[in-house]
Amino acid sequence: MLNIVLFGPPGSGKGTQSQLLINQYNLIHLSTGDILRGEIAKGTKLGQKAKSIMDRGDLVPDEVVIGMIRSILEKNPNATGFIFDGFPRTTTQAEFLDQMLDELNTSISTMLSLEVDEDELTKRLLERGKSSGRADDANEYIIRNRIKEYNNKTAPLKEFYTQQYKLQYIEGVGSINAINAKLCEAIDQL
Ligand code: AMP
Repeated sequence: MLNIVLFGPPGSGKGTQSQLLINQYNLIHLSTGDILRGEIAKGTKLGQKAKSIMDRGDLVPDEVVIGMIRSILEKNPNATGFIFDGFPRTTTQAEFLDQMLDELNTSISTMLSLEVDEDELTKRLLERGKSSGRADDANEYIIRNRIKEYNNKTAPLKEFYTQQYKLQYIEGVGSINAINAKLCEAIDQL
């Protein structure tokens, strides 16, 4: 199986690049942000609980996203691989993911980290906010909070995957196709 953690701060292009990679490598896309927004749209209990947290730009509790990932992994026993987009975001989530994949006799193949500086991220997210309708893209204060959450809680996962010799840095600035080519090169070398 090919299991990729597509890593990077909000606005680094994980969603866009995932869409290309799922077709190129026949992977299942697992975006916890998309799943949570789906729950909000459906008005489920989980969605109601997550909405105010997401609108502030904070992380939702680990057990909520872990439960979602578990159920999708269990529903796809014949998958040839997964791309994890926006997950894991904390050490607890990463430990759970390792354990869960281990139970399925597989593991993370690589973590590809899209590197984009903070001013560029803020610019991209404010631009996206004009059409995304996302409350958390709509103002700079919330965007800065999301980046702060990333720096404090998520960026330490680089160390977690470095210890497993799985981290690869990818420059996340340039055309969509050029970044895709760099990601493919890293994957093809596995
Ligand atoms: P994203 O679409 O990945 O930018 O996620 C949007 C928001 O959903 C985040 O700011 C968090 O509030 C929440 N979220 C998504 N994935 C996670 C996760 N793995 N852990 C905690 N919160 C998450």
